[in-house]
Amino acid sequence: MEIYSNNIRELIQELSNLPGLGQKSAQRIAFYIIKQPIEKMENLANVIKKACKEVKYCKECCTITDDELCPICKSSKRDHTQIMIVENERDLASYEKAGEYEGVYHVLHGAISPLLSIGPDELKIKELLLRIRNEEINEIILATNSSIEGEATAAYLCKLLKPLGIKITRIASGVPVGGDIENIDAITLQRALKMRITI
Ligand code: ZN
Repeated sequence: MEIYSNNIRELIQELSNLPGLGQKSAQRIAFYIIKQPIEKMENLANVIKKACKEVKYCKECCTITDDELCPICKSSKRDHTQIMIVENERDLASYEKAGEYEGVYHVLHGAISPLLSIGPDELKIKELLLRIRNEEINEIILATNSSIEGEATAAYLCKLLKPLGIKITRIASGVPVGGDIENIDAITLQRALKMRITI
């Protein structure tokens, strides 16, 4: 016998599809939602809709932003000749929070993974090449994760970019093997960046 009626079941199902939410958390949030005043939840629904509709990729670094350019790409205080390549926006946020880095970023939106059928074409690599062609770049820092996928992506990018004659570095030890950048503390990230090696 089904415990919940259709509407509640559907809500729990949708919520449990979100990353990090299991069935139990989805149930808890679903019951919280249906007990709230309707205006409050309409407002939440509108905020979600607006964010999904209006947020776009920065035309320089491909991170998500409200404008054509993100605040980092817009800033004249950043070194635009140094590009750090990260897998996703969360890694970018981790490096920003660590606070040492003064260059700009490029967000790939994933990593090469034959298992998940993610190849170079699924990542923002075309955009990176275009950017390198149009701008003066002194250094590219490969800051993908130290997972198998992150290493494969770094190796691919190194092979692709090396012939262009740009200095390419890889973030160094300190980032544990298989460790996700977003879960690493600021001091370890600062050290990994400082100790990066030229490849
Ligand atoms: Zn940007």
